Amino acid sequence: MNSQRSIAKSDLKARWTVLPPLKLKGVGTSLVESVPSYVARMLWTTGVPLNHLVRCVARRAIPGSGSSTTFMVSEALNTIAISRVEELESLSGEKDLRCGSLWALSEIMSYKTNVYGEYKRRWCPQCYEDWDSNSYEPLVWRVDLLGVCPRHQCRMECTCPKCGKFQRDTYQLDLRRTCWACGTSLSTGAIWPKRPDFAHWVDEQIMQLIEFCATPRAVPAPLSIYTDFAMGLCINAKRSGRRDTVMRLILKDIERHARRNSRRPTLRSLLNVCALQGISVQELLCAPRQVSGPLLFDQWPGMSYLPLPSAVHAQRIHAASRYLEDFLALDPPFLPPMNILLLCFHIQLLALKDVAADIFHAYEERYLSQGSRSRLACLRSSFLCARRVLIHPCRRGFPNLNRQAERLARLMEVSLQDATMVLEGAKLMRETQTEEMIEKYRSGLPLRSALDWFLERRRFL
Ligand SMILES: [Zn+2]
Ligand SMILES: [Zn+2]
Repeated sequence: MNSQRSIAKSDLKARWTVLPPLKLKGVGTSLVESVPSYVARMLWTTGVPLNHLVRCVARRAIPGSGSSTTFMVSEALNTIAISRVEELESLSGEKDLRCGSLWALSEIMSYKTNVYGEYKRRWCPQCYEDWDSNSYEPLVWRVDLLGVCPRHQCRMECTCPKCGKFQRDTYQLDLRRTCWACGTSLSTGAIWPKRPDFAHWVDEQIMQLIEFCATPRAVPAPLSIYTDFAMGLCINAKRSGRRDTVMRLILKDIERHARRNSRRPTLRSLLNVCALQGISVQELLCAPRQVSGPLLFDQWPGMSYLPLPSAVHAQRIHAASRYLEDFLALDPPFLPPMNILLLCFHIQLLALKDVAADIFHAYEERYLSQGSRSRLACLRSSFLCARRVLIHPCRRGFPNLNRQAERLARLMEVSLQDATMVLEGAKLMRETQTEEMIEKYRSGLPLRSALDWFLERRRFL
């Protein structure tokens, strides 16, 4: 009798969990609930305060996991976050809790999952509008590349529709749907944007990625999925004799990093390699070797450059396009080659050509009208020399343009007229590319809107 009781007791002890056995919603689907949403529901259901739960987790998980400031950041990609999720699993008895995080990709993906630099809470106004007691926030909302709500197709928001403030990541469910600063309901102001095909493609890939994470599995996907794919991609690029140096260098870089395991791809890089190869994320995760083959290699229009730039890169491209327009409007006596003119912007010119075609072609046309190919080559070298002449300190007093032109004409063996023209062009470029001016161009488009600006104009060359 006693032994029976003790068996029953130990059985009960084994099954007893500190927290009630709340289930993670949407396991196995692309709309799986996020771990923070689960925790918020748990706190709501039990009435346990957050710091109590944090202390409980910190007692047994590895050091660092009990910080309440990072508690909401449950992407579960690093050891601390994984340990925290494991602890929450044992506290609640919910074995599949990790399906509400990116744990399945923790061996492959970089910790930096945010395209915009840092995580900002995002939501769908329509989902907030329809909110009821069964509602939850899906994991996919935490991926900032997702453009529209998978349920309602309206734009994912990250700022208050009235005051424009970013929102705090609170665990208090009733506070999540109103702005912490002005009290406006966050369920207002839904917008249904017109979006390019590429943006749809990106959203689709993110949904596949989340579905992969939401599917219960014993171990995370191995890194070899990515390294195998990157190596195959590189070998096939070599075989197909691709001409574009920039692309070859990019592929080599991807392959080298993958091989050395030195840098895991970010979500953006992962999507970029898929776009380069014309495959879906699902195909990459299921059969990396097969899909790295030459089959699709030259059929995909996104091959010419990485289709998904970082927000910073997109901002630079925007700045370069504005600068190009302004420089052309100044009507300089000589237009330098565009790659030299835009050097300080550090951009891929092909990307600029794709998203700002009008100004790109207008500049090219004006540039080519300045002379024959051999004359342009000569003016180009004179221009490079003129830039050096300009920064060279003048021995006798204040630099004089005439004297500098004479010097340039002598050095490059060109006419004084050409030397003056090239020198004036170089001077104008120098004057319009001061650090402050470049900064002004860059701040012309906020980082958060930069990628949208780029994707809206992306045509695929
Ligand atoms: Zn929605
Ligand atoms: Zn507000």
